[in-house]
Amino acid sequence: MDRNPHILIIGSGLGGLICGYILSREGFKVTILEKHHKFGGNLQTFRRNGVEFDTGMHYVGSLDKGQVLHKFFNYFGLLGKVKYRRLDENGFDRIFIKDNEYPYAMGYDNFVETAAKYFPGKYNTLKAYGKKIRQVAQGIDPYNLREVDMSQIFNVDSLNENVFSHLRTLTSDQRLQNYFSALNILYAGERDKTSMYVHALINNHYIESAYRFVDGSGQVADAFVENIENNGGEAFKNSEVMKFIFDDKKKIKAVKTCSGELFHADFFISNMHPYNTIKLVPPGLVRKVYRKRLQRLPNTISSFAIYAVLKERAMGYLNSNYYCHKDDDVWAAGNYDKDRFPQYFGMYPLADTIDEKFTRGFSIMTYMDYDEVKPWENTVSRNRGEDYEAFKEEKAQKLLDFVETRFPGIRNKIKVYYTSTPLTLRDYTATRRGSIFGIMRDCNKPYESYIFPRTKVPNLYLTGQNLNLHGMLGVSISGLLTCGEFVGVNYIIRKINEEYDKEINAHV
Ligand SMILES: Cc1cc2nc3c(=O)[nH]c(=O)nc-3n(C[C@H](O)[C@H](O)[C@H](O)COP(=O)(O)OP(=O)(O)OC[C@H]3O[C@@H](n4cnc5c(N)ncnc54)[C@H](O)[C@@H]3O)c2cc1C
Repeated sequence: MDRNPHILIIGSGLGGLICGYILSREGFKVTILEKHHKFGGNLQTFRRNGVEFDTGMHYVGSLDKGQVLHKFFNYFGLLGKVKYRRLDENGFDRIFIKDNEYPYAMGYDNFVETAAKYFPGKYNTLKAYGKKIRQVAQGIDPYNLREVDMSQIFNVDSLNENVFSHLRTLTSDQRLQNYFSALNILYAGERDKTSMYVHALINNHYIESAYRFVDGSGQVADAFVENIENNGGEAFKNSEVMKFIFDDKKKIKAVKTCSGELFHADFFISNMHPYNTIKLVPPGLVRKVYRKRLQRLPNTISSFAIYAVLKERAMGYLNSNYYCHKDDDVWAAGNYDKDRFPQYFGMYPLADTIDEKFTRGFSIMTYMDYDEVKPWENTVSRNRGEDYEAFKEEKAQKLLDFVETRFPGIRNKIKVYYTSTPLTLRDYTATRRGSIFGIMRDCNKPYESYIFPRTKVPNLYLTGQNLNLHGMLGVSISGLLTCGEFVGVNYIIRKINEEYDKEINAHV
């Protein structure tokens, strides 16, 4: 090839943007096509009554100086462009289980010391828990930006270790087991299926340090697009890819968008769900068993959310997130029961630059199964009918009743609220059945639910949350692995570390 290879990326979720950024920096010509009218997928925000709401990125972890996300943000050119705020060190998350409230504190020593006040006599168990999850999370090379042996990437014991079994051997105290498991909402955990790998990576991420974006996560998408364009790349909205066009060597030569436009390239990276991607490949070009596997892999449950605009100065700024479990059994995703809706809520107050002293809005999330909105699955957004509006309102009232049990009088502080359902998630990001975090990881079949970036189509690659793990950190690792197919994973890891040493350490 006597010119820079051209890479076409389908989807501008975090995964697509990361690949676009890394590869455009490395001299590839990059084009991103996004089906929606906004970039970012789950990073998108929307504005109502002057308040900017996050949709799928309420907080991130490991962002203190020297921690892994800080290194990624430096390499991605996000530091200084994106505003974020450190959450309450002594309770970034506050958890209600039945009648008790417990904080999750930042920093391992602080985590143990703080929790020990709520669990007298359990100091050593708390310490053992902290040690275990730190050990597991710090043992996984790419998540610590250590060079990787790709043949061993999924050869990790914690992938098939069930976290709940571990917690049961650690302590017979159910209250403590629940405390350790309470954030399983962050990965739609299922008691019999969630691995130590998923649990440890996510809990460690936030215990290291926890931050929320100020003015919303949409600025991350905007900053990525700007950086990609500065590197010579291009990104187009309202460009849904409907079809792959193949050459006679069974390689993709172009994609066709909904408007009939053709985009040619040398390589194609799909940020779509892997099954939706492979559906566009004709039979015979990928093995039937691979196609079936992608089709059958279960996806995590979906969600219902309230986005509330608060009355002016009705509530002081809250620098924590709140999780409330109705039952003693905190593993609600695997026990979802629509008749007991809502089984939990997660409440995420917003931070903005308009008023730093008051909370101007928050989102409240809970699980909802896609089947509950199936009657409206063939309708389009904003025009789903009165019965759908009534359904949403009934659910919103039930959710607010539950929130009132922990925040009495909160209804009176709300000026107006908006709701979303699994159909909203499905339509905004094309995730299967409105799944929150994509493909579910099952420790009983660990290798089935982890997907490599390479496909049987020689110039088609995958990226995003469905490959390895969801979330800011998980998708950054997927992006690293996908781009590694072009320039080498260890080359990128070295570059991230070298740049960090040069730019950050130079200033200390
Ligand atoms: C409600 C919710 C709360 C969350 N909270 C957090 C949190 O607090 N912290 C955290 O770290 N993570 C959180 N996550 C997870 C995180 O948002 C995701 O893991 C991550 O953003 C996924 O990025 P992605 O690139 O894999 O996919 P997506 O964001 O789904 O992006 C896929 C993109 O591809 C586009 N696309 C699909 N099909 C086509 C097509 N045919 N043509 C063109 N474009 C197409 C979509 O429109 C979309 O923009 C949350 C997720 C949800 C849903």
